Amino acid sequence: MQGNKKTATPDQSGQPETTRVRTVRIMPVYHQRSEAGRYPLWMRWVVILFFAWAFFGWLNETWFFAFDTPLWLNRYTECVIILVFGTWRIVGEKNPYTRRRLIILVANVTVLWWLIPWLFPFIEPYLGYLGGFPVFPSLHTPGTLTFFVVLATVFLFGRRIICGFNCPCVGIREVVGFPFRHKAHVPRSMRAWGFRHGKWIWFALYLGAMLAMIRPANNITTAYLGFFALAVGLTYYASMFVAPWIGNRGYCRFLCPFGATFGLLNKVGLFRIDYDASTCIQCDKCVRVCDMGIPVWHLGEQHGRIKTTECMGCGRCVSECPTQSLAFFDIRNLIFWGRRQDGNYLKGLVALKQSGNRWRLAVFVLSLVLALMGGWYYSSRIGTGAELINQLGTLCGFPIAKW
Ligand code: SF4
Ligand code: SF4
Ligand code: SF4
Repeated sequence: MQGNKKTATPDQSGQPETTRVRTVRIMPVYHQRSEAGRYPLWMRWVVILFFAWAFFGWLNETWFFAFDTPLWLNRYTECVIILVFGTWRIVGEKNPYTRRRLIILVANVTVLWWLIPWLFPFIEPYLGYLGGFPVFPSLHTPGTLTFFVVLATVFLFGRRIICGFNCPCVGIREVVGFPFRHKAHVPRSMRAWGFRHGKWIWFALYLGAMLAMIRPANNITTAYLGFFALAVGLTYYASMFVAPWIGNRGYCRFLCPFGATFGLLNKVGLFRIDYDASTCIQCDKCVRVCDMGIPVWHLGEQHGRIKTTECMGCGRCVSECPTQSLAFFDIRNLIFWGRRQDGNYLKGLVALKQSGNRWRLAVFVLSLVLALMGGWYYSSRIGTGAELINQLGTLCGFPIAKW
């Protein structure tokens, strides 16, 4: 399909307005597949009920202790709900790259966030103070092994490592809260784009929590960490119940202190989205499909690329761009010279018949199996992990465990 488009520089650039005529080839990739759809009222009520169920699971385990935390009413309830709704979303998803991402996301949440910590509870080696309950993976806990591994991978691949593929929060919002996605048209406005800085307040609170965690426990650090955990937990769940008004990704955009941390690594790390102004027809599709409210092509016109703290790397804009004007860039582009991770490349990742994709699938499944086996070995042979932590502390020459 051929398309001619008369274009102008965006208002936001502050540049004098110019017009130019471009002839570009429009590719029929996933066109129209990622626009937010409409869902019936009864389905939105079902979603609210499941949000409430996940919330009461958390409440029961942290506050009520009324039902002896069975699976249907504890912190893992949310993961089970994600698995059920995730299956529904995977079957119904029209964009093949998004479907692939959902499969990885649901598998990660099921194995790493539910099965391992539920079946094999243990505490990761860490530096500093931590409550004495099993936490793995503890990517939100400064000083743990996972935390450092995650920071390194986010630096290399971008925030999408967590916010696109491996966070229960994105899980429950993308698969359960999906029927509220169309409501994100308000956060997609330029005015809402300005509100994104609200998350830095939460980031400052998180910095305080980091400081409290690496210091020996005392009344003040314990009270602060309790306040921080409560505030994050309540805003996390409260944001689900305002999804009917602000869409499903409100927490990630405006409140999440961890997303802000990973977003900073988006800025200083290798990840970015390259933008080709010579082929962009300014159809605005990339803006309409972005649930993080990023003015994608506007930023591209201004800066020549999209390198922002907000991008969670979902790939909707890249895979939907009809002219292949957008492409991911990360550490792999430095290793594989000439590779361009545009929509066609993402499309190629989906086809199992394509060379290398079966290997990728095998490695992914194997890594989850190994993680399960590692969880079993760690918890059955080493116990909660306290012994290993103490051994590490002795080896390092300073005490690590504080409980
Ligand atoms: S922004 Fe926060 S809650 Fe959202 S996916 Fe990222 S880490 Fe999870
Ligand atoms: S970059 Fe965005 S505005 Fe430009 S052609 Fe692609 S989808 Fe359309
Ligand atoms: S800019 Fe693109 S990849 Fe980033 S969050 Fe928006 S749609 Fe997803």
